Amino acid sequence: MTDSISQPLQQVRQRLADAEHAAGRPAGTVRLLAVSKTFPAADIEQAYLAGQRAFGENYVQELQQKAEALAGLEIEWHFIGPLQSNKTRAVAELAHWAHSVERLKIAERLSAQRPDTLPPLNVCIQVNVSGEASKSGCAPEQALELARAVAALPRLALRGLMCIPEPTEDTARLASQFALLRQLRERLNAEGLALDTLSMGMSADMAVAIAEGATMVRVGTAIFGARHYH
Ligand SMILES: *Cc1c(COP(=O)(O)O)cnc(C)c1O
Repeated sequence: MTDSISQPLQQVRQRLADAEHAAGRPAGTVRLLAVSKTFPAADIEQAYLAGQRAFGENYVQELQQKAEALAGLEIEWHFIGPLQSNKTRAVAELAHWAHSVERLKIAERLSAQRPDTLPPLNVCIQVNVSGEASKSGCAPEQALELARAVAALPRLALRGLMCIPEPTEDTARLASQFALLRQLRERLNAEGLALDTLSMGMSADMAVAIAEGATMVRVGTAIFGARHYH
């Protein structure tokens, strides 16, 4: 039996622990979300056997297929991709978390479509921290108003903020964009919200994100390998 997943997974856990330690943060404060988009259910199963429980998907159809194929496992599904209004129902029915809420209309649909038999859907508001015009996410100045409205929806549990920084190897630039998300959470909490989650950091920049306060890192390539889109 090949062991193509558990070894890199173990290395990522070690990197995460090292980054917590380097940042002076208690061990176990950062959760690892394994981003399995484009990889088959069999790979998820391998990671699961190695103890991983939280998995992230970007495409609704893939989430549906994998959730069905792996229905017997106790997986916590996180939807992290762009949310279109005609695709919200599957996310509301299958996911435990949605990280990419950037508009009230999408949040309202998720709340309305969340089945009563399930606990509220955990959500993060995606914020555009780099200011790039092409980037998803609400503007930082809109986050408070959106967060208040989302927090009032009955079938959602607003947990925090999510960002994807500018793709750059400039660590100081990355750090300042992650810091912006951390400061925004502090500001929102000072306004009476109760956000416990900062979803930030990926394969290449997880240590920078952890140094800036990430509570959940979303790691794909470093666990599953390079993605091939078809
Ligand atoms: C694909 C993806 C990731 C994982 O990125 P890697 O560089 O492969 O670790 C994290 N977050 C989001 C939103 C993604 O789309």
